[in-house]
Amino acid sequence: MNLEQVRKDIENSSAVAVAGQAFDKIEKTKELNAYLSVCKERALKQAQAADERLKNGKPLSVLDGIPIAVKDNMCIEGTKTTCASKILENFVSPYTATAVAKLEAAGAVVIGKTNMDEFAMGSSNETSYFGKVINPCAKDRVPGGSSGGSAVAVASETVALALGSDTGGSIRQPAACTGTVGIKPTYGRVSRYGLVAYASSLDQIGAFSSSVKDLAPVLDFMCGQDPNDNTTSAKPAANFGEHIGKGIKGKVIGLPKEYYADGLDSKCKEVIEAALGKLEKEGAILKEVSLPSIRYAIESYYILAPAEASSNLSRFDGIRYTHRSKEAKNLMDTFSMSRGEGFGSEVKLRILLGNYVLSSGFYDAYYVQAQKVRRIITEDFNKAFSVCDVIASPAMPGLPQLLGVCEDDHLSMVLSDLYTVSVNLANLPGLVQPCGNLDGIPVGLQWIGKPFDEASLLGIGDAFEKLP
Ligand code: GLN
Repeated sequence: MNLEQVRKDIENSSAVAVAGQAFDKIEKTKELNAYLSVCKERALKQAQAADERLKNGKPLSVLDGIPIAVKDNMCIEGTKTTCASKILENFVSPYTATAVAKLEAAGAVVIGKTNMDEFAMGSSNETSYFGKVINPCAKDRVPGGSSGGSAVAVASETVALALGSDTGGSIRQPAACTGTVGIKPTYGRVSRYGLVAYASSLDQIGAFSSSVKDLAPVLDFMCGQDPNDNTTSAKPAANFGEHIGKGIKGKVIGLPKEYYADGLDSKCKEVIEAALGKLEKEGAILKEVSLPSIRYAIESYYILAPAEASSNLSRFDGIRYTHRSKEAKNLMDTFSMSRGEGFGSEVKLRILLGNYVLSSGFYDAYYVQAQKVRRIITEDFNKAFSVCDVIASPAMPGLPQLLGVCEDDHLSMVLSDLYTVSVNLANLPGLVQPCGNLDGIPVGLQWIGKPFDEASLLGIGDAFEKLP
């Protein structure tokens, strides 16, 4: 279901009717567990206003009246934001995240909040307090995480567009697992105001769709500087669709040799190489590049992300926002018991790890070292981009895992981040799109771009999507 189809549906009926259909579909696909809540009243009101504007021939934008889903770690005034955690089970947002507010200002209608790994920590969407999300492409497999609910919301055609957040791959991996398209913009492109922080120097809001070109208007409206987030870039938002429809002739595609080596499932590799072969036939130039430091990316990420998380999550203390233990008899009990009851085990693991690497005896050995590795990874990408326009890489080391595997084998979950975390560490944009399948299970292809060059990713992604 793409944007054009939804727009036609609205033209032929109304935004209210289309929102109603979305709610029906959510009900029918309930067993996928993609949504944690729906905002019916709010959405129907917005859809009514959109219908009024459309009737008067004065739409706010191409998104006017279009239903969207939003990951449940973005605040929307007056609605619950749980981060799929018990600790925020009853938290109602007092304000709306900038990214969501900007899309609403363009007329988009938020119909619901989507399931996710608890506090966006995970790669399989199995750490949600509210239960796993099921992959509609293969119901015995995970949909990827942590934005699994948003990916499934698009894959199961309840909406054409959904927002997610990506700290180390949480948009791109679910896109790969569900055969949808997902983009993580450059760090600083999209305001994080109103996004519940996981690791602030890595988090970025992005979007899912079923076709590459549908992401352009989302970015056009969502990106830009925000006085409420001083890490947003002053760079004027590009015309993100400017390369769409222009093909790939002459584009130099860098292939990091370290990415096509051990660690990548051989069958998935064949699918990706076949896709790259098609691009070469169309006139793209394939060029081997090297990212030697990439072998330390996971280690560096799993020091830095938990370090930031341990600090960010200290605000959930049983006093503000959150679940408060009924057993607590004094202040210290309130902190420790509320957190003990409210956080799931994955979140606790990250907090412990983060506190450990930040503690005085280990700070230099782990945290400082990981920061240095982060810089070297960024430099390696810079070098690679001096000889290519974009980088093509796998999105995942293999097919989506069978349900339950990551729960028993934590390392296998961590290793699924092999191709995605480096993009966050280097603050780059990344786009994942389907490039084939194995017995009907989708395989994703990741495009990594130069900083702020999302437009090239959309151009190339669109060209690839149009190949026979
Ligand atoms: N899988 C990674 C983690 O668990 C990335 C998650 C994300 O991008 N939010 O930290």
